[in-house]
Amino acid sequence: DFAKSKSLAQQRQYLPIFTVRDDLLQVVRENQVVVVVGETGSGKTTQLTQYLHEDGYTSTGVVGCTQPRRVAAMSVAKRVSEEMETDLGDKVGYAIRFEDVTGPNTIIKYMTDGVLLRETLKDADLDKYRVIVMDEAHERSLNTDVLFGILKKVVARRRDFKLIVTSATLNADKFSKFFGGVPIFHIPGRTFPVNIMFSKTPCEDYVEAAVKQAMTIHITSGPGDILIFMTGQEEIEATCFALAERLEQLISSSTKTVPKLEILPIYSQLPADLQAKIFQKAEEGARKCIVATNIAETSLTVDGIFYVIDTGYGKMKVYNPRMGMDALQVFPVSRAAADQRAGRAGRTGPGTCYRLFTESAYQNEMLPNPVPEIQRTNLGNVVLLLKSLRVENLLDFDFMDPPPQENILNSMYQLWVLGALNNVGGLTEIGWKMVEFPLDPTLAKMLLMGEQLDCLDEVLTIVSMLSVPSVFFRPKDRAEESDAAREKFFVPESDHLTLLNVYLQWKSNQYRGDWCNDHFLHVKGLRKAREVRSQLLDILKTLKIPLTSCHMEWDVVRKAICSAYFHNSARLKGVGEYVNCRNGMPCHLHPSSALYGLGYTPDYVVYHELVLTTKEYMQCVTAVDPQWLAEMGPMFFSVKETDTSLLDHKRRQKEEKTAMEEEME
Ligand code: ADP
Ligand code: MG
Repeated sequence: DFAKSKSLAQQRQYLPIFTVRDDLLQVVRENQVVVVVGETGSGKTTQLTQYLHEDGYTSTGVVGCTQPRRVAAMSVAKRVSEEMETDLGDKVGYAIRFEDVTGPNTIIKYMTDGVLLRETLKDADLDKYRVIVMDEAHERSLNTDVLFGILKKVVARRRDFKLIVTSATLNADKFSKFFGGVPIFHIPGRTFPVNIMFSKTPCEDYVEAAVKQAMTIHITSGPGDILIFMTGQEEIEATCFALAERLEQLISSSTKTVPKLEILPIYSQLPADLQAKIFQKAEEGARKCIVATNIAETSLTVDGIFYVIDTGYGKMKVYNPRMGMDALQVFPVSRAAADQRAGRAGRTGPGTCYRLFTESAYQNEMLPNPVPEIQRTNLGNVVLLLKSLRVENLLDFDFMDPPPQENILNSMYQLWVLGALNNVGGLTEIGWKMVEFPLDPTLAKMLLMGEQLDCLDEVLTIVSMLSVPSVFFRPKDRAEESDAAREKFFVPESDHLTLLNVYLQWKSNQYRGDWCNDHFLHVKGLRKAREVRSQLLDILKTLKIPLTSCHMEWDVVRKAICSAYFHNSARLKGVGEYVNCRNGMPCHLHPSSALYGLGYTPDYVVYHELVLTTKEYMQCVTAVDPQWLAEMGPMFFSVKETDTSLLDHKRRQKEEKTAMEEEME
């Protein structure tokens, strides 16, 4: 009841960081760079920026605070604006990709590390910032790691600039050493013991096991909220669904009254208003059960959790050299992450953590620490960015942990094929243009191909739609109905064109929300796409690129789509089964693809990405003419003589049809 009974000011004073406020500010005054270590929930993210403001730093510039996760940037900014009694976007604001909620008055700015990284492109010295807090450095996100190298230079160039690096884990020596042995400031912890319960046997189905465990806690254990760690959105939704179902059964079969359980999902793509719910207190007599991704591990702190259920798994983006791309894959988390997760149960009082894995798995199968993202993902964006910052030789860049040389070379190779790098590794004209867009190189290339093929208007919409979460709404209890609604939008040759079609129809229905509901579309997603579109349009305008249209000549648009996906092209191998043209990696057509509506499977396709579930599924697929692939680069595609092109196929179909009609006559 703490949050309810105490004012925000009182809550602020209760945080562990408050006890060391003055010492901390003293250390910051005396040093240009400081590393701050403190347990999750000690007040680093919400308080540090305010202390810096109170100590006068904002009179000469902005206090910026970077977050590896968008959700954290948004939610923390909202909290701090409340604590400072100002509107969000006024004195306190946030910026994430395609969403800037700051204004001329903003003195405390939360942002994703990616946003700050892009700001260095325009202003290498980050002159508007007086202090940068690099928060959650222990996460070692790709952008944070690159920022380390860049900010180190800013520190050397600007005497008036201060940098604070925060970490929730103890291995902060590395950060300190990187900046030449700067002081490490420890915030004393205030945590309660957490009783750890390991699973006796390896668990077959952790969703089922977690649901069971949560229900047992709910029925038999004392008060306190539950936090369940799952790997991603789908699993979280499945878990919430199963929890609700199980609760329903219990209520109908039990003679005693079953206490209320509020089931609350949290993952990055969840709309902000639903995300905020996890912080609200459950109603009287009810228990909260939060089902989260690793976002709740350190970046968001929810008070009142007494029980943690940990599957021991998390999703990680990993560069897969065989596939030649990044893929989100489920991995066992590290021991450090598992300990962080357990720690969430001991914030308000002694708690319990139920680990759905064995003690031996913890000891023998989990890595001690997570592998930094820079060592496991595609570096396309980073290479482009550093090249444009005139870092000629990436192997010389000051990385805390350099990425494997193979990763750098692979990423450079991909950029070269996209036409962004020339033969000596310098940025081409296209490459310089690509840097301007806050997009993956592939999507930036698609836009520029839209320019070249005079179908930019259409491609711009497609790129915007690909930059937001799926707009198709598919409630479990109305799956058939929603599938039928979705099929009405199909452009049979292409999921990309289907997205374009959805957008255009929404537009011709005056961008109405009720129209979206009627057609099983997420109105928020579409609105977001519209916003993204207008922002990208602004960038195109500054580059003086005119918005050409091919007036929906589908084949022209498909050719532009094709040109961006050289690395994601696939050849038909069996029914619904393809292999990647370059590396032979198998990939499958997903039953939800518009291409199923074609009535036959095209010989060649390109796809947006591969998703690994039960199989490698291609997500967002477009049928292409092999000639286009051959034009893009004969060295990558050996089109077999026997392969008939899609256009041939169409012609054949037409001929057959005419022949049949003639026969009928
Ligand atoms: P740290 O960064 O050290 O992990 P934070 O500054 O994020 O700590 O959290 C301090 C306190 O503020 C926690 O008790 C947390 O519950 C609370 N808090 C943070 N964000 C919000 C929010 N959006 N709504 C309500 N409380 C919040
Ligand atoms: Mg924090």
